[in-house]
Amino acid sequence: MYSDHSPETTAPTRLKIGVSSCLLGMKVRYDGGHKDDAFVHQTLADYVDFVPVCPEVEIGLGTPRETIRLEGNPAEPRLVAPKSGRDLTETMKSYATRRLEELAALGLHGYILKKDSPSCGMERVRVHQGPSMSPARVGVGLFAAALCSRFPSLPVEEEGRLNDPVLRENFIERVFAFFRLQQFLKAAPSPGNLVAFHGTTKMALLAHSPKHYKQLGQLVASGAKQLETTLEAYTRLFMEALKVRATRRKHANVLQHLTGYVKRSVDAEDRAEMAATIEEYRQGLVPLVVPLTLLKHHFRRHPIEWVLSQTYLNPYPAELMLRNHV
Ligand code: SF4
Repeated sequence: MYSDHSPETTAPTRLKIGVSSCLLGMKVRYDGGHKDDAFVHQTLADYVDFVPVCPEVEIGLGTPRETIRLEGNPAEPRLVAPKSGRDLTETMKSYATRRLEELAALGLHGYILKKDSPSCGMERVRVHQGPSMSPARVGVGLFAAALCSRFPSLPVEEEGRLNDPVLRENFIERVFAFFRLQQFLKAAPSPGNLVAFHGTTKMALLAHSPKHYKQLGQLVASGAKQLETTLEAYTRLFMEALKVRATRRKHANVLQHLTGYVKRSVDAEDRAEMAATIEEYRQGLVPLVVPLTLLKHHFRRHPIEWVLSQTYLNPYPAELMLRNHV
């Protein structure tokens, strides 16, 4: 059975997210401080077990410690402590290989990294290319690069980007979707089960990427012979699809599609109200939660099994209130 992770003996009941330790308030930064992040540490903590990792402390650098930075070729930078001249590149790379295997055994469902760090930064990390040049913001922290390469389908995001409501909602949706996918993969799936699993994700996929929606549909339809290969391709394409930004236009199309399922059960006034609310959402006048709440109200009164099975309606706990801001 394909999985990005080694199988666990018992299925987890809570999500497991790897996180740069300093974001949880741990005093592991070079200056002895932390970067406690309220959304990570407090809001998500109700739903998630965190796995804190501080690569710099774990390779034996103390706290406080000399600052380190990326230097040289941005495509293959060195990790250097400029004051002492120590080159930590190979130490960090071999640590990352070892540590990521430990994390694979835990079965993570997402990872939150600290931005700008030469170890943890996911993008736009400063790379110093010589005394006469300003550092270019083109690098990736060495541990972050190894993480993304080892787990290509794992949802990974930086804490800075999570301040953007759209990126935040997208990341959390991906984390919960990955959790459901991993649970499905662990349960010895058959081609029939894959068809059923895929069936529940259709509206979510359509809101992100109609192109992937079509590709995944074709993959599932042809998946009976080479199940292992199909599941591997499904995982990659599925997570790739959810990474594509879900725009208001695409959400509006999905909402209109769902409206079609109740149009014969409601009267003209209700139909007009739904159409007007979806249009208000499409124009950016109200957040996504508004048309969705109205639609859910009608589906409660006129339940349709296939519609109610859609993860699109409840992609993560409503208490996170992320759709109030997109
Ligand atoms: S950014 Fe990464 S390496 Fe730096 S203190 Fe935080 S967890 Fe440690």
